[in-house]
Amino acid sequence: MVDTKTQYLKIKDQVDAAIQEVIDSTQFIQGEVVRKFEEEISAYVGCKYAVGCASGTDALQICLMAIGLKPGDEVITTPFTFAATAETIALLGGVPVYADIDGKTYNIDTDKIEAKISNKTKAIIPVHLYGQPAEMDMILSLAEKYNLYVIEDSAQALGAKYKDKKVCNIGHLGAISFYPSKNLGAFGDGGMITTNDETLAERVRMICNHGSKTKYFHEILGVNSRLDSIQAAVLRVKLKYLDSYNNSRRLAADRYNKRLSQYLETPYVLPHVRHIFHQYSVKVDRRDEMKKYLSSFGIPTMIYYPVPLHLQKAYSFNYGKGDFPVSEKVSGEIISLPMHSELTDEQIDFISDKIIDFIRGN
Ligand SMILES: *Cc1c(COP(=O)(O)O)cnc(C)c1O
Repeated sequence: MVDTKTQYLKIKDQVDAAIQEVIDSTQFIQGEVVRKFEEEISAYVGCKYAVGCASGTDALQICLMAIGLKPGDEVITTPFTFAATAETIALLGGVPVYADIDGKTYNIDTDKIEAKISNKTKAIIPVHLYGQPAEMDMILSLAEKYNLYVIEDSAQALGAKYKDKKVCNIGHLGAISFYPSKNLGAFGDGGMITTNDETLAERVRMICNHGSKTKYFHEILGVNSRLDSIQAAVLRVKLKYLDSYNNSRRLAADRYNKRLSQYLETPYVLPHVRHIFHQYSVKVDRRDEMKKYLSSFGIPTMIYYPVPLHLQKAYSFNYGKGDFPVSEKVSGEIISLPMHSELTDEQIDFISDKIIDFIRGN
């Protein structure tokens, strides 16, 4: 599914040197390298502030803490996402309120959000799933109308664009993950929070560091969530290549599209976005059979996500089967093919041939 080894070997000298520099400096926590990387991410995304933290999950939680989410507050999000999106809301005592997805983009259906807004709604968390931005214009106008925060879950979409803006520079806050298999992957966990709001940026920075600005003086409730220097050093090297990694993914997606579009439902891309294909996910009948067939040729595939959150034991809250029919249908048909920056044309063709063989019934 991913090939972080080949990617590393191409830049091994630079990465190894960057790690060695941190070791030599012994500034393992909050080193200069973290500050530099934060500046580089904010320049890359186009926003004013970026604050490193320990993971994408923490980034979401810290965003919710920064906007002052209180027990009982509601946050509208998609049920078709990774658990972290709802988990962080619930951990703070908030209530995830799901709105079903659009059947073509798999992102939150903006026509279904307004009916979910109540006087307890505090925020909307759109997830830019698979690397395709959600319909942000609609989300922002609803947020403005009802005075809500918008937190972009950009864990899968760093470098993606909605109209002329990069994700993480559109809502009030953005959450990035540097989990190793993400488009910009660290050698461990890591995350970042972005914003253009100075007050929010200051709160975020304090929350990440036990709620303190000055060591041993704690003004607000915080956590210990920091991006460590070794991860920042690795990520600084890799950030220089992110656009080329994302381009390789887009080219791989083009090649898959050309080979497969007459046989199955290839990804729909909104005309006004730049999709960066964290995943290349297609819809097929007999999905599980195809997964087995491909696996017999050594071709890995993954299901993101087999069970939508409203049907997960831990995250169903008061929802049940039938509440979000589009999410339920998509989760039964979707399958993600190998997708990463190092895919070769030969690999894509081999995978495509086997898929076509399966569909034709050979
Ligand atoms: C990966 C991911 C996260 C969590 O990021 P971690 O760094 O693994 O904590 C959150 N939301 C989505 C949509 C993700 O894909």
